[in-house]
Amino acid sequence: MLSEKEINEIFKDSEKALEVIKEANKKTLRYFGKEVHLERAIFLSWFCSLGDCKFCYMSTQKERIKDPKRARRSIYSILAEAEICRRIGMDIEFLSSGYGAYTVDEINEIADMVSYVYGDKVFLNIGVIDVSNLTDSVEGVVGSVETINPELHKVLCPSKPIEPIESMLKEAKDVGLKTCITIILGIGEEPKDLALLFDFIERNEVDKVVFYTLLPHERTMFADMPTTPSVYMAKTIALTRISFPHLWITAGTWLTELANIGILLLSGANAITKYPLFKIFGNRFGKKVEEEIRSAGRIPLATLTDFDALLGRKEYKKRRFLKKDVEKKVNNIWDRVEEKIDSYVESIERSSVKQLRF
Ligand code: SF4
Repeated sequence: MLSEKEINEIFKDSEKALEVIKEANKKTLRYFGKEVHLERAIFLSWFCSLGDCKFCYMSTQKERIKDPKRARRSIYSILAEAEICRRIGMDIEFLSSGYGAYTVDEINEIADMVSYVYGDKVFLNIGVIDVSNLTDSVEGVVGSVETINPELHKVLCPSKPIEPIESMLKEAKDVGLKTCITIILGIGEEPKDLALLFDFIERNEVDKVVFYTLLPHERTMFADMPTTPSVYMAKTIALTRISFPHLWITAGTWLTELANIGILLLSGANAITKYPLFKIFGNRFGKKVEEEIRSAGRIPLATLTDFDALLGRKEYKKRRFLKKDVEKKVNNIWDRVEEKIDSYVESIERSSVKQLRF
């Protein structure tokens, strides 16, 4: 495993960094090939009972939400989004909400229905939960670690210590679930902290890491901060790839950061996420994502431009898992889900036409 000193040297020396990126690219191609996944988190609720992480949009909403149940999305819109993901070949990164937004029974019911529509199992990113009673539609759980530096973590996530997250990841492994962690880059960590991260990944046999860039949300202490530099993120991903050749690495981007995608893929990312799907499908931004992927010599497994797929006339993703016992429940509400799908498709078409005019 790389030491703090070695990591610092690579971050300081551009020649060494380029060598690491080259090595990471080779390892990625050897173990995963050229295919690139497009991922998307499906949000379930805007409520979080903790609500005090310093970078988080939900921390700006906590005071505004009087009744947590009213901050939930309707099941119709959740299933509509799952169906759109399936049609265009997009992977559901995870189902996401803040802490305390759902009971385990409620989340199991949602996971079953999403899984039925989407045709695959799903990860849950809903805080620290009891993993012993999850439905078989759940493939794994996510520990939103955010930053591994212990002092920084205490300041930025005062109510969300790392230890219970690590315990949940261990318990998840014990019951046969996969595990994922999320890390936000550019929030005050140092390159040498990667040594701690690598130790955490190894110790907990983590299956997947999602690296996000800082998204400076209004009314947070990061509101005026620039987003994470592309080369800093590339070096982080490349070092992670060469340290863990078989680890699944997802890289977050944003509308203003789409030009980073190519270099992040060359550095070892398997998938990209965190772009506003409904704003970019079918317009120059969606095309930009696909071109970034192809310019890195990779093949996108989903489409952000093919309206036939969006309209369900062809399929990019085959169903791999069918949770038959919720079929009736989903069918009973499918008319309402279809109304939602139609309204999403209409808004995508409107935004696409507007962008093309521009
Ligand atoms: S626990 Fe998660 S959702 Fe809640 S405030 Fe922190 S980052 Fe946001």
